Amino acid sequence: MRSFAYCTADDVSQAVTKHGADDRVAYVAGGTTLLDLVKLDVMRPAQLVDINRLPLDEVETLDDGRLRIGATVTNTDLAHHPEVKAHYPLLSQALLAGASTQLRNMATTAGNVMQRTRCPYYRDASAACNRREPGSGCDAMHGINRMHAVLGVSDQCIATHPSDMCIAMAAIGATLTLEGPDGKREIAFNDFHRLPGDQPEKEHELRPGELITHITLDTPIEGAGAYYLKLRDRASYEFALASAGAIVAVEDGVIREARLALGGVATKPWRSHEAELALHDQPAAVSTFEMAAEAAMQDAVPHEYNAFKIPLARQAIVRALREACRDAENANQQR
Ligand code: SF4
Repeated sequence: MRSFAYCTADDVSQAVTKHGADDRVAYVAGGTTLLDLVKLDVMRPAQLVDINRLPLDEVETLDDGRLRIGATVTNTDLAHHPEVKAHYPLLSQALLAGASTQLRNMATTAGNVMQRTRCPYYRDASAACNRREPGSGCDAMHGINRMHAVLGVSDQCIATHPSDMCIAMAAIGATLTLEGPDGKREIAFNDFHRLPGDQPEKEHELRPGELITHITLDTPIEGAGAYYLKLRDRASYEFALASAGAIVAVEDGVIREARLALGGVATKPWRSHEAELALHDQPAAVSTFEMAAEAAMQDAVPHEYNAFKIPLARQAIVRALREACRDAENANQQR
């Protein structure tokens, strides 16, 4: 491992100043992705700015009903927060489906948003990888691509986004607050991660030196049901082959509002507006869920070993929608 300098910061502006918009400097909080990649020689920071002392570890309900989450709130604390469990159950379920207890205790909310792909070629410094080394090629394209994406792919990169938490946030809707050398700004969660296109090394919309300070969830949908289904090779501590996060509001057996996001099959947290359109004002029935699943996967592009993900994702969508509708109907009965 290469050596690097390390410093701490006590507030956001000090952290931004210490970073200095220098691309050899990285912010670190839980370090659960960054330190792995440093040890693998995939990331080579000259300096780390530790943001754990920043006052960004609170979850608070805003006057307009939205929930504001500080960047350094851990995945464990967020999953078990009473407001999250009561009003954003999809987020709690998705967080608890991710990683292991030990990792969730360390990993932070902003770090989860910023986590890198688990493509094995990305993490192997001797492999060709356009994301790690622009223009070097992509060994996954004709290699072992069973875990890779079928949605949002390009001829430069087919890596999946690994997060479960981000799938829930894509479905719920959220806003990121960023602070950097040019001040504060906000960006919609679903605009933050980029598709690989012909620049897979540009993974997100952060500008040099910017720090995610908060993530604010949209107000929850009144009376909606939610379900996160993650299909994977083993029951814990494993990334998704396909996952589906569904939120639905049902009235008299008809779906009035639906949100659907997919994980394990796409190059970024994947909100499926096509599926949502297919669900809107339709009966809460398996035939409707199947139409939505078809719509969600209609543009999927398989490679040699991952074509199985297309029917798998369709099944995940149908099951997640069925369970979310049941949850909504239970909620309706209790009102
Ligand atoms: Fe790199 Fe993307 Fe190809 Fe994986 S799929 S080797 S991350 S370019």
